[in-house]
This record gives sequence, structure tokens and C-alpha cells, in this order.
Amino acid sequence: CTSLGQIIDRSVELYPERLAVVSGDRRLTYREFYEQVCRFAQVLRRDGVKPGDPVAVISRNCAEFLVAEFAILKLGAVAVKINWRFAPEELVDLLEFNRVRHAIARYERWDWGQKVYERTKDHITFYLINPDERGVSPFQAAIDSAPPAERFVPGPADPEAPALRVHTSGTTGRAKCVVHTNGALLEQLRNCSSVLAFSAGGIFQMTSQLFHIACVGAYLTLAVGGTLVLMSRFEVGEYLAAFDREKVTGISVIPVVLKRLLESPQFKEYDFSHLRFLNYSTCPMSKALLEEAIEKLHCDFYQSYGMTEMASIVTVLSPEDHFSDNGKHLSSVGKPIPGVEVRIQRPDGTVCPPGEEGEIVVRGPGQMKGYFTDDPTLNQQVLVDGWYHTRDIGWLDQDGFLYLRGRKDDLIISGGENIYPMEVTNVIMQLTDDVAEAVVYGIPDEEWGERIKASVVLLPGSRLTGEEIKTYCLEHMPHYKAPKEVEILPELPRNSTGKVMLCALRPHPEEI
Ligand code: AMP
Ligand code: MG
Repeated sequence: CTSLGQIIDRSVELYPERLAVVSGDRRLTYREFYEQVCRFAQVLRRDGVKPGDPVAVISRNCAEFLVAEFAILKLGAVAVKINWRFAPEELVDLLEFNRVRHAIARYERWDWGQKVYERTKDHITFYLINPDERGVSPFQAAIDSAPPAERFVPGPADPEAPALRVHTSGTTGRAKCVVHTNGALLEQLRNCSSVLAFSAGGIFQMTSQLFHIACVGAYLTLAVGGTLVLMSRFEVGEYLAAFDREKVTGISVIPVVLKRLLESPQFKEYDFSHLRFLNYSTCPMSKALLEEAIEKLHCDFYQSYGMTEMASIVTVLSPEDHFSDNGKHLSSVGKPIPGVEVRIQRPDGTVCPPGEEGEIVVRGPGQMKGYFTDDPTLNQQVLVDGWYHTRDIGWLDQDGFLYLRGRKDDLIISGGENIYPMEVTNVIMQLTDDVAEAVVYGIPDEEWGERIKASVVLLPGSRLTGEEIKTYCLEHMPHYKAPKEVEILPELPRNSTGKVMLCALRPHPEEI
């Protein structure tokens, strides 16, 4: 293969009748999926899409998303994935910024979709997935009227050419647009599949959104001829029903999703014996939750650590290493995957020895080509001498396992002391089983510079108070690290990858 679009070809040839994608009431075999992809590629070509052109996909997870994406890739065009949750102004802004002329869209709110359409229709051709008044999806109608797959001639397959533009989840500011080439993505897929458990015949259930770099899980599944069970959103009942019906063998979860699954009253009604692996990533997982999951789910556990800029995975904690050396590495995010190098750096750029904490910098084949940006300094700030600067803080142990301490941007400096919120969060999470989730951050304080605040979500029925949590923290950590304020909230504000949006919790500057 030399282009991402080709990763499905072998599966189509070997397993034409096997299910490629299951989503809602759509079930496409590899033969059917390929047929749809090649037909839609011809629609785009007829409408003027050339190799290298940016084509946007704005949709929740659905089979059509993948059809559109692979059609774009097969033409040698660039799939520009944009968060469908964005408000009209943001969407218009990103479409213009990316210089998009063709977009596949699925409206979640008709009025919002209409606004985007009105403001861009002069220069953007839309293919709408939603059915119209007659119940016909214009996207699907275009596919059905296109020439059959055998007439399709793919575009150039250039490993150096960009294939994707993905936007980072942006917990610390405006989402950045990351460009990945065909070659980088292919190499990254090879390296990931050598350490993860995606296999032919495997059935992978995915609830993270395809517009994120988590789409790598979808590519890994399709490249080996597995079946992808796509959830358009996470709802416990729907998730468990699909898990059971499709006899899912692999899942990928973020900690909140895992927590909701294990706590759900429906959990006990289902047989999990067909589950062979569980991958968790994206946010720190508490030890208590991980241990509960290991006890309840008898499958292989993989943790991965990564980021959009590195085409997802950088390190993996293997199933064996969850238990090796008496579980000593359970709190680490594992070791670098093949091809990837991890270093810990001091602010002056020198390399820290094992045990010393510093910024995690990484390099490897999945590294982005750069941000698509009009700020010429942005790429120079994060890509230094070929190393990507993650802004995550961590350390390596003697055996090469990586441990995360927190994010550079989340560091709290209170009375001159450095405090990483993750450490305080871990203490609160261990307090009692009553704590469902907690997040710790600094808020401006005249005397101390910053003071520590915690926002905590309790399990239904819990009577725990903020004062009790404060007292517990004071007993279990140095005073300067204990939160001075604890608020109890019904839920935490999260972005679409499941990361907590601190900007929504912190007071606005004008309120201070
Ligand atoms: P994004 O910017 O959306 O690509 O997210 C990447 C960031 O997510 C990383 O820089 C980490 O801060 C965080 N992250 C990724 N994987 C993990 C993990 N396994 N545990 C804790 N944090 C993680
Ligand atoms: Mg990031």
C-alpha cells in the first residue's frame, strides 16, 4: 500500500462477504462497502474534486461517514474532518479556513445546518446524508446513480501527499488542524497492529467519534478484515445491546465510558465471554476503576497513550505488563510502540535521566507533517529538531516505562509550590466508592497566586459533602496540595473526546 485509501483493498479481495461496517440499521459487507466507496468517489470526481483537494466530512459516526472518507482517500484528495458539534459560526470559519469546496454533512440540528448552508452555498457543494422530505438521502441518491465500482480508476497513491486533516480536541484553546500524510498513517498503522490485538474475524465496537484521531481504530479493523460496530453516540443500553447482538470481541473506551458500563444495572444481564480485549486511553484512569474492570471483565487490557499530532498511539501498556513485577507498572502508560522514541526533557532542552520528571517529547513515523495554520511560528514551537513537544509532563523508569504526571498547561503554582492536579485527583478518587469523577485545577488567588479547587461528581444517592472531601484530603496529602474549595456538581463539562473542559469550570477573567 502507498495510500490510506488502499487499506481496504485486501480485505475486499479476501473477505467480500464478511461484514465491514455495522451502524444503526445499516450492515455493509466488504463488497458492498467497496461498491459504495468507488461509486461516491466517481461522484466527487465528476463534481470537480482533484487529487490534493480538501473535502470536508461533518457527521456523527455512521456508515456513510466511512464511505465518504474512503471515497475521498481513493481519489487522492484530503479528508478534512470537522467536529459536527460545532456551532454554525465555527463550522463556517473552519470550512473557509480549510478552503473547502466540497462537503459531506449530516445535520444534527436543521436550523444550524441551514445557517451553514446559506453562508457557504455559493462556493461549497454539499452532499447531505440526512433524508429529505421524500425520505431520500441526497448523498445516497448520488451514490446509487453513479457508475459501478468496476468503472472506477483510483487517483494517485502518493505516500508523501496529505491524506487527513484532523482537529485536536482543544482542551487548552482553539482546536488545531493537524495534517497527516498517507505514508505516515500507513507506517503508524503497521506499528500499532504489531502491538495491538486487531485481527481478521475480530469485531470491534467503537464509540469514539470518527472525526478524531481515534479513527485509527477503524482503519486497523478494516485493514485486517475485521468488522467495525460503530456507535453514533454513547448510551449504555444501546451500547450493551449492540455488544451482545454482534458478539463483539474488542472495545476501546475512555474512563467515563468504562465507569458507566460497569455501574449500569444492565451490566450483569450480559455475557461478556466473547470479549477478548479492551483498550483504554485518552484520559488518566484511576487505579480503583482499572482494578474493578480487570476483576469484572476477563479479557486482555491494553492502555495506550498518544495524541492527534502523532497519529494516535505513542506508548502501550501491554496485557502482560498490567501484571508483571506484581503490578508495579499498572500506573504507567507503558512503553513506546515500535518505531517511536520517547524522551523526557528539561526546559533547557537537555535529556532527563530515568526517574527525573520533565516534558515528554516524542518522535516516530506517525508524526504529523505539521499544523495547517496561518501562524508560521506554531509548527516551530512544537516540532523542534524532529521531536514533537507534547506539553505533557512525565518520567521514565529504569525499565523504559512511561509515567504521566499531568499537562504542562494544567500545572498549578500555589504559594510558589508546583502541584500537578492529577495527583490530587487520584487521592480524591480513592476516598470512597461514592466519588464518580473528580477534577482539580487552580483558580486565581490574591494571596497565593493560585488556590486549588476540586469539582466532584458523586454517585447517585451519596451524601458525601465538599467539607468531608476537604478534610480527607488534608489528612492524606501535604497541606499545600489539598484543595481549598470543593464543589459537588451533577456532571463535568466534557469535550467530544471525553476530556474535561477546564475552561468551562474556571471563572471567566471578567468574573475574577
Ligand atoms: P489530543 O490533543 O486530543 O490529541 O489528546 C492528547 C492528549 O491526551 C495527550 O497529550 C495527553 O495529555 C492525553 N492522553 C492521551 N492518552 C492518555 C492516557 N492514556 N492517559 C492519560 N492522558 C492521556
Ligand atoms: Mg493536544
